[in-house]
Amino acid sequence: MKVLVVNCGSSSLKYQLIDMEGEKVLAKGLVERIGIDGSILTQKVNGEKYIVEQPMEDHKIAIKLVLDALIDDAHGVIKSMSEISAVGHRVVHGGEKYANSVLIDENVMKSIEDCIKLAPLHNPPNIIGINACKELMPNTPMVAVFDTAFHQTLPDYAYMYPLPYDLYKNNGIRKYGFHGTSHKYVSKAAAEFLNKDIESLKIITCHLGNGASLSAIEGGKSIDTSMGFTPLAGIAMGTRSGDIDPAVVTFLMKELKMSTEEVDTLLNKKSGIFGIYGKSSDMRDVKKAAFQDKDARAILALNVFHYRVKQYIGSYVAAMNGVDAIVFTGGIGENSSENREGICENMDFLGIKIDKEKNNSAIGVNSDITAENARTKVLVIPTDEELMIARDTKEIVISLN
Ligand code: ADP
Repeated sequence: MKVLVVNCGSSSLKYQLIDMEGEKVLAKGLVERIGIDGSILTQKVNGEKYIVEQPMEDHKIAIKLVLDALIDDAHGVIKSMSEISAVGHRVVHGGEKYANSVLIDENVMKSIEDCIKLAPLHNPPNIIGINACKELMPNTPMVAVFDTAFHQTLPDYAYMYPLPYDLYKNNGIRKYGFHGTSHKYVSKAAAEFLNKDIESLKIITCHLGNGASLSAIEGGKSIDTSMGFTPLAGIAMGTRSGDIDPAVVTFLMKELKMSTEEVDTLLNKKSGIFGIYGKSSDMRDVKKAAFQDKDARAILALNVFHYRVKQYIGSYVAAMNGVDAIVFTGGIGENSSENREGICENMDFLGIKIDKEKNNSAIGVNSDITAENARTKVLVIPTDEELMIARDTKEIVISLN
């Protein structure tokens, strides 16, 4: 069975065609600048690039070109579209309705539309992507895999904000959590790596990329996570503030006369690592400035980042009454030994201690970086959200027959 995984953004689209026999990626690609001058599709097959540059007015045209690229005589990987058995769509917000992935029908589309108010930037392009695929592949089953679904197991006292209860009841204001597909994938992969039943494990997953979140996973279920009503909450990120005193918002509006849009941009695009360091949001630049140039603000940005991750780890150990494994993933978690070291420093009270050499050599591969005799396992597990989406899609489509 071949599954096409589609992740549709407002002007971009990422895709992978995965052969579920052996879970092999046949082709992966990225379409950029949809609806803007300079639209470009880049497809990679076995590391070889195929580039298509032509105007793409909308997502339907982009997806048509993706399908053309996949069946292209010279650069494609399949003979016809009929070889695609199912399409798995990443959908950011499923609200409280979806605790699992689901076969897309009219009711599901309506529910995804209802969640636009909760994810105004993300759900609309997801819907456009689904509709475009449905038009071009009307007989192919489509599955929605929600970023929020894995966190629907949070207990009420963990997702409830201490705000007037009616805001939850009438407006859906609560913690939802995101990156669920990644937290689910790496927690399962960690249990397999440790050769343990996930039911018996308490795991803290740290997805540290440009956007970043942690999750406390007990017996395979998410019981808490650091992002909230939106992906702005939690630890300090590349450009997002993470948790701050909410009164800062009213202060900015009242005293600095900022508009809602200005505050929104400040918190989402100008804060976090970028806000503190001031020159870049890319962790590689920040590390270089901190370690080589001894730049004081880069050092401060790193310290804040590490401290915030530590705080969440500590709170999740308390929430689960223990921890068996800490898992690092995402661009920073998978590749950056310095960040893992900074986070795990002085945590031996919780049985967390890493081996410097193992840590330094763990780059982008499943690795155990635990120091000898340390009680808590520390692992590096590269995430694979596309594969998780493809697995869910396959499972749902097989269950139809
Ligand atoms: P997202 O999917 O949220 O956009 P990624 O998971 O791809 O992000 O992670 C991007 C982040 O990973 C960037 O901040 C980048 O600097 C960081 N990163 C990648 N490689 C390294 C590295 N070797 N050291 C530190 N940070 C790294």
